Amino acid sequence: MSNRRNFLQAMSSLPLVGGLFAKEALAGKPAGPARDFFKELGIRPFINAAGTYTTLTASLMHPEVMEAINYASKSFVSLTDLHDAAGKRIAQLIGCEGAMITSGAAAALTAGTAACVAGKNPEWIKRIPDLAGTGMKNEVIVQKAHRNGYDHAVRNCGIKLIEVETADEIERAINEKTAMLFFFNDADPRGKVKIEQFVAIANKHKIPCLNDAAADVPPSEHLSRYTKMGFDLVAFSGGKGMRGPQSAGLLLGRKELIEAARMNSSPNSDSIGRGMKVNKEELLGMMVAVEVYLKRDSAAEWKEWERRAKLLCDTASKNSAIRTEVFVPPIANHVPTVRLKWEKAVLNLTADEVRRQMREGTPSIEIAPGSSPADAATQEFSIGIWQLQPGEVDVVARRLREVLVK
Ligand SMILES: *Cc1c(COP(=O)(O)O)cnc(C)c1O
Repeated sequence: MSNRRNFLQAMSSLPLVGGLFAKEALAGKPAGPARDFFKELGIRPFINAAGTYTTLTASLMHPEVMEAINYASKSFVSLTDLHDAAGKRIAQLIGCEGAMITSGAAAALTAGTAACVAGKNPEWIKRIPDLAGTGMKNEVIVQKAHRNGYDHAVRNCGIKLIEVETADEIERAINEKTAMLFFFNDADPRGKVKIEQFVAIANKHKIPCLNDAAADVPPSEHLSRYTKMGFDLVAFSGGKGMRGPQSAGLLLGRKELIEAARMNSSPNSDSIGRGMKVNKEELLGMMVAVEVYLKRDSAAEWKEWERRAKLLCDTASKNSAIRTEVFVPPIANHVPTVRLKWEKAVLNLTADEVRRQMREGTPSIEIAPGSSPADAATQEFSIGIWQLQPGEVDVVARRLREVLVK
């Protein structure tokens, strides 16, 4: 018996042979330290005091989401059937006609635009992005103030963006080539035509209207707010506030358009969305993320965020030269966020220097990107508290004290 165990232990330490004997080897496998992959690769993890930034890997998935992912990884199923069933469940949970899991909000923008341009026409689906001479509608109307980097995901369908500023200009821009009206939720305060009026114009002309609301949860009610308002399609990120897989997202909206979006996507090989595949693990993971998100205690969550924000403000204001503030962005990332400000001449310190010290300290901490330029007289930066894990706010407070208060 003991010889057999030794044998199995020896075998399981050989990666190739271990695979062949994996089932037996598991039984006798010593509980060794788990592999530290990031260390192997020279990657240093950090405490996320920034927020759901894509390049900082956005959010951490719930254990329930990982359970669903592991569960899915063990069986073969029909990818199409799973897409159908998970989409249907999400539409029911959120309360909208149709839902489709995409490989992120950007992919949802592409799938949604393709649905408006090609619909369910198999020939047209194949032609995107080369729309010339097909008779496909090829114009998307957008307010100038709503242009942003993510509209590349709309443009890659081969459409032309028609920029407008006023309601009158929208009315005049609409013609038989108009495939869609595009709205960037976060830009609402900056555009001349506000959200309700924009949707009303689209609805009046019976032209599909798509809202990029990628970063607009919490609150959970936003998941159904825009379809109820009259948007035909709405895009959300799955890996930001909802803590699903980072390469997952949601396209919500009218059943007919969601069906068309599906046809313009993976696994349909001759489609613009083929490269934006969602695997079975992400499908189940995203579905469970929505379930968990809708069930959470949002009041308790908010209270904890306020506690963290206050703790960090109290810590920083021990240095009397630092002005502290807690603000809640009105639309996207609608969560308590800390802002610290000081006069450079008084502290002889830049926000970039604070970022460097926080990043290079132990443990490494990332504060929100987009602090003031080094030559500005008033220096400021933000701290996002909602992606901190339990206990981490105390570590951030300690480091802030060391860097700012000493
Ligand atoms: C993050 C974001 C996206 C992209 O979301 P992914 O899920 O990463 O594809 C698109 N639009 C806006 C406004 C965003 O904030």
